[in-house]
Order: sequence, then C-alpha cells, then structure tokens
Amino acid sequence: MPRLSRRDFLAQSGSCAAHLALAAAFAPRALSAAWARAPLGELVATEPFGSLEKVADGIWALISTPLGGDRTTLSNGGIIAGRSGVVAIEGFNQPAGAAWLATKARELAGQWPTHVVVTHYHADHANGVAGYLTSEAATSKPTVRATERTRNLVLEKNQPADAARASAMQGIVVLPASEPSTIDLGGRRVRIIPRSGHTDSDVSVEVDDPSVVFTGDLVWNGMFPNYVDAVPTKLAASVKALRRERQTIYVPGHGALAREADFDRYVAMLGEIEQAARKAKQDGKTPAEAGAAYALPASLGEWTLFNRIFFERAFSAWYRELGG
Ligand SMILES: [Zn+2]
Repeated sequence: MPRLSRRDFLAQSGSCAAHLALAAAFAPRALSAAWARAPLGELVATEPFGSLEKVADGIWALISTPLGGDRTTLSNGGIIAGRSGVVAIEGFNQPAGAAWLATKARELAGQWPTHVVVTHYHADHANGVAGYLTSEAATSKPTVRATERTRNLVLEKNQPADAARASAMQGIVVLPASEPSTIDLGGRRVRIIPRSGHTDSDVSVEVDDPSVVFTGDLVWNGMFPNYVDAVPTKLAASVKALRRERQTIYVPGHGALAREADFDRYVAMLGEIEQAARKAKQDGKTPAEAGAAYALPASLGEWTLFNRIFFERAFSAWYRELGG
C-alpha cells in the first residue's frame, strides 16, 4: 500500500478520477473483492478493469472494478442499441476503455456506436472519449454529445491535455442544457436529461421501456461519493427526480447496478450527511474536525470509504451552501 501524506492526498484527490485511483491505492484486498459483487445482470464479458452486464435486450452496463488497480475505464458506462443506431455512454478514463466498449457494441449489437454521450466533465468519464474516433478498430465515427458546459470544463480542466480529446470535444453535438433531448435508435428512444449537483452540468441517459436509467455520478452505489464539485441541495433534487415509481435498473456512475433498495439507501446516506453537516456547522466545527469525527450509521450498511478526507469534502460542500 503506498504511503501518501495528507498534503499529497489532498493535492491529488481533487478530481473524480483521482478519487477513484486513490481509493484503489488504499483498498485492502478484501474490499477489492467485495467491489466486484455478484452481478445483477447477465455477465457477458469480464476484464481486469470491469464487467459488462446485460441489463435488458439491447442494453448493457459496464461496471468498472477499479479497486484492483486497472484504470482503463474507472467509471461505469454502457451501451443502448436500437435497430438503426447504438449509443455508447461515457468516454471513460482512457481511450482504450472507450475503444473496448465500442468493440463490444459491434460484437453484441452489430455496429460501432453511432452516438456517444458524456455525462459530465470528470476525467474518468471524459478523458478517453477520443478512443471511439481514433481506435484502429473503428469502422465509423460516432457523434459525441455533451452539454456546452461539460465540453468547456473538459477543455479547461482535464489534465494532461490531449489533442485527440480536445478535437473530439470541439466537434461535439451540443446537448441542450435546459430541456431533455432524444436520440431515436430505431424502435428505441433514448432520452438525455440535463441535471446538476454532482457537477455544474450532469446528464442522465434514460430508457422508458424497459425502465433503465444511466445516472452518471449523481448516484453512487456502495462507495461514498465525491463531493469535490457538488452543490448538495441540487444533488439531492436531481437524485429525487431520477427515482422512478416503477421497477427500474439504475446504472450508477460507480459501484454495482442498483435497484430500488440500493437507490433509497443512497438517498438516506445523502440525508445523513446533510443532517451531520448542519449540526457540525451549528456546533462551530470546521469541515476537517467534523469529517474526522464522523461515522455513517450502521443502518446504512457498508459504504466503501478509504479516507476521512471524503467526509471532510462532503462537509465542505455543505458549508459552501450553508454560508461560511
Ligand atoms: Zn464525477
């Protein structure tokens, strides 16, 4: 296990990708194994970086398993196929991750992705996006969709800068930021819904029949989320809006596929953090003090937490909203 000073940790764990990479560095072996829990869907491929699970006819989810140390994908993502087109969700951490998913789309759905949706700017969801366009295996070039804000944040913030990524993001079809849009894949409509709260601009990718929601990083399952860019009240509102009344499979940004109980446990966890942050602020504690003293209630079950800094970051996000 690498030794990192608190200062190095703070310096390196700013982005969502770094959060995951550092989590992997701190993960004991038993936890790494627990991360790769029994799949909810039918397993169609397993790699060191993740597993591809069939969620429904024509829909597959890539559940990344980064705690083993392989950072090819880091985030979850997936494939939605119709008769005439295929949407790939997320650009992943490295171009090889995107190229791998595209190759699977061709194997499983019969064609290279025609569309790509990047849910938000964080490196582990966006930095590999050029892989769909530049892979030697590519037989066509999908259109990449993201909001203008996401494009700008990728270009401004994501390091190391990369010419192929910049070119892919400059060439995107811009998703409307204030209203849903749809992609017609032939016998299947995919809705892309602008939201926010995990970052300044998030989107969910949704199918109504069967009921499947790719949540991006608005939802995490079994791993404590990264609040680095979060606006917690907006996050809570977006999460509430994502929850459906009927039976649904949620593909979270990180962690295993989620059903209703998993989703509701996540909502309860966000609520516990809010209560704790409000109380800590009232008691005059700093986010660092509050984070150091905090423990999630046992009733919420197991949440992988690798460093107390993640609690501190959640409290800091709340303090920003609460003022001071
Ligand atoms: Zn993220």
